[in-house]
Amino acid sequence: MRATTEARTLRRVSGSQSNNSPHGDANKDNARDARPVALPLAILPLHQQRYSCHGCGNCCRDFTVQLRPHDLEKLRTQDWETKLGAPVTTEFRGVTYLRQRDDGACVFLMDDGLCRIHKEYGFTEKPIACQMFPFVPIPDDRRTRVGLSFACQSVRENKGAELQSHANDVDRMTRAVPETRVATYTAMLADAMGAKDGELDALSHAIDAYLARNDLTMRDRFDGLSWVAASLGRAKLAEVRAKRFRELVALLVSALPAELEHLPLEAVLPKQERLLRQAVYARLEDVQVHHAKSKGRWRTVLAQLLASRAFTRGKGRIPSVARGLLGDVSFDLIRGIPVLSESPDRDAIEDLLVRYARATIIGGRAWGAGYYGWPAVRGLQALVLNIACAAWLARALAASRGHAHVTIDDARDALGRIDRHAGRAPWLGSVGERLRLEYFRLDDGLRRIVRESI
Ligand code: SF4
Repeated sequence: MRATTEARTLRRVSGSQSNNSPHGDANKDNARDARPVALPLAILPLHQQRYSCHGCGNCCRDFTVQLRPHDLEKLRTQDWETKLGAPVTTEFRGVTYLRQRDDGACVFLMDDGLCRIHKEYGFTEKPIACQMFPFVPIPDDRRTRVGLSFACQSVRENKGAELQSHANDVDRMTRAVPETRVATYTAMLADAMGAKDGELDALSHAIDAYLARNDLTMRDRFDGLSWVAASLGRAKLAEVRAKRFRELVALLVSALPAELEHLPLEAVLPKQERLLRQAVYARLEDVQVHHAKSKGRWRTVLAQLLASRAFTRGKGRIPSVARGLLGDVSFDLIRGIPVLSESPDRDAIEDLLVRYARATIIGGRAWGAGYYGWPAVRGLQALVLNIACAAWLARALAASRGHAHVTIDDARDALGRIDRHAGRAPWLGSVGERLRLEYFRLDDGLRRIVRESI
């Protein structure tokens, strides 16, 4: 069954490549041979963004690394079990992962912050997921976009080389994960509504151009994004397709930011505040394989329920979450921290959040294969919620660190934490999360939570 599906996918890809590629003849030959043709790569086209690994080792502490058969083969050949005298992998619910220490760090992370496999065998001998991070390849029906994870410190700090300089490496790595280079996803505009040619590109270009406007305040840029996401959610899109959809998007974006002044907002409702805190908690949940195995399923679930309830109530001290990321702090203290626009680091925070939003949209991580297969309209709403969660968490970090305002480091740490799970943690793509977004659509919830936290 699996082989049949793959064969179908490969045939479809061969066909679409031969139709679209400027190198028509070569691809026709490929189609005739029914050999897989890799989708072309589109590295994130955001010239303001840079990246090189600076070896902070954070990703070796933060992530649970799932292994592919080829990774396991390499680890066996490298004979780590003999060298370290202990297993280097662990099984959980039928999946094999790199083993972690009790503090969550990878067993190969050395005291100097470097990777032992990298040191002894070189970069290309590490598991492919470790090599790939922070690049996120996302195939659609025409290309593989390559987005960036803001869980990486260098990405957040915007340090390093131009992204295009990594193209050969990304090409090699994605070819080792063939499903990242084949068209397996049908782009969706809204629920049960496939996107027509050019609709999603028009949407991302229009929003990107608005977010790029340096003449606007951070609050107007994100309020505008929330308004477009909410307006598209309300529109009867089935009646506005192709050229008319592109015109609708252009019209909505051209009405910004003036339209926002005619649509003043009430304060955030208590229920919306509660939902926002719950959304933050869902993004902080951090069950690690070795903890879940040692504590047992029920103790793990009970601890999660208690923490979730504390976030819902929003009273008293904040429970210990995300391995102590948030120190001992009360919910009231967090409410007392001024919003991001009032920070002395406002310009740096604005640069960070705008780069994140733009990179997420044009890098393909806002919807489709980059975000739980969600349609574009819901994916945009989820992006708005992720930004509001990052803003809330930044204020919580500022409060727990004794800062009077959110600093750029608070904002960077918060965004790194929020983006760490985005598009990966299954619960953020669940029905419950969809319902949360539905509720935020009522009473201008998305606009209210963004405006009051940014
Ligand atoms: S988080 Fe980024 S900079 Fe730090 S080690 Fe990982 S890839 Fe390198």
